[in-house]
Order: sequence, then C-alpha cells, then structure tokens
Amino acid sequence: MTTNGTNPLARLMHYLRAMSYPHVTQLVLPIENFRANSYGFGVYCSYDGIPWGRHLGEDMDIEAGTKVRCIGRGRVVYAALHAGKPNPNPTAKPNWLRNWGHIVIVGHRDPLTDGTFFSIYGHMEELRVKKGMRVEQGQVLGVVGASHTPKNGYWVAHLHLGIFTGEWPGHVLPGYHNPPKTVVTMDDFHPATDFIKKYNAAHTPKKQLLQRARGQQVKKAATSRGRH
Ligand SMILES: [Zn+2]
Repeated sequence: MTTNGTNPLARLMHYLRAMSYPHVTQLVLPIENFRANSYGFGVYCSYDGIPWGRHLGEDMDIEAGTKVRCIGRGRVVYAALHAGKPNPNPTAKPNWLRNWGHIVIVGHRDPLTDGTFFSIYGHMEELRVKKGMRVEQGQVLGVVGASHTPKNGYWVAHLHLGIFTGEWPGHVLPGYHNPPKTVVTMDDFHPATDFIKKYNAAHTPKKQLLQRARGQQVKKAATSRGRH
C-alpha cells in the first residue's frame, strides 16, 4: 500500500496516528462457539452467479444478536453503517445490493515490533462504539445482524472478521480482493483465527521478556560501538 507515498507531512500524520493505537499483548476471538467458517480466507467467491473476487476475511456463522467482542486493546479507526438495499430492478440478479452493514475497524499496535495491524468486524446489527474511542479486549463492539436486513448488508447472519497489516488508508477496507476495483494487495490481509493463534504464541510473557532483553543488548552494543 502506498497511500501516503513519500509526502513527509502524510508520513508524519500516519506515524502520529499509529502511535495512538495502544499496544496489545494477547488476542481473543470476537465470538465464542461459532460454527465452522462458511467462507474461509482467500476463497474465490461468486454470489448469484456473479464473481466477487477472493475473500479477505473469515465468515463466522452465528445467531443474530450474538455479541461481537474486540479481539484486543485498540482504537476505533472506523465505525459506520454501509447499508444494503433491495435491488431497484426486481428482475435483476442479485436481488440485493449487498454491503458491509454496520462495520467497525480497530487499530492495534504490536509491542514487539511497534508495527500496527487492524481488526475488521462486518455485518453487525448496531454499533456500540464510535470512531476515535479506545477499546479494551473483550469490549462489545456490536451484535451480529439479522439475516437479509439493511443493517447487516443483506447477508445471512454471520460475522466477517478480517485482519489487515497494511497502512491505514483512511477509509473503509474491502472484504474482497477484486482487482482493479480493489487496490489493496492480498499480502496485507491474513486469515484471522490463524493470525490470533500465532500472535498469542509469539507474545507469551516469556517471549516478550526475551525479545526486550535482546533489544536492550542490541542497543547497548550499538552505544558501545559508538563510543570507541
Ligand atoms: Zn466475509
């Protein structure tokens, strides 16, 4: 992603925004006991016979009304309704103009790398948070939307969970990779449940201590080199 390019002011703004995302050491799943993902990450999808591209998240099947919890401490960078609506042409396929419904995107910061990543929650009934809010792990962001309503974007009730490690573009992220319409690369998106598992394994207290100690050693070595 090169949304900010080399413009120094844009770089600075990006840096300052990223610094406002709190560090998160462990992650949790946004819902418990969801059924097997109906659409996995990277799957080629078509709806009503129309190809949509590759899926940039995991779809978790769960009853409408289920609370959706934040996977980890972060700051809300996007919270809005992208309502679906019936297709004005009744004979047209698809019958619905589908969308995200209520969507929330949260920015997080990795204490080991200081890099940022974003969790994306789509197709919710309502929003319980606002853009700019700091959120804690497990905090309710919204609830899963009822099937085929404008609020869930006209889909069967489910949660779309995405993980994005690119630069925040300042606007909603896509749910599908569909070039040339979708300008982000697949590489910036990750299978969410796998990402959470790996993140937690890499951020156990023991591993964090080791990493910090290694960082201090590198700093010390650099300082002593500088003196001689
Ligand atoms: Zn999805």
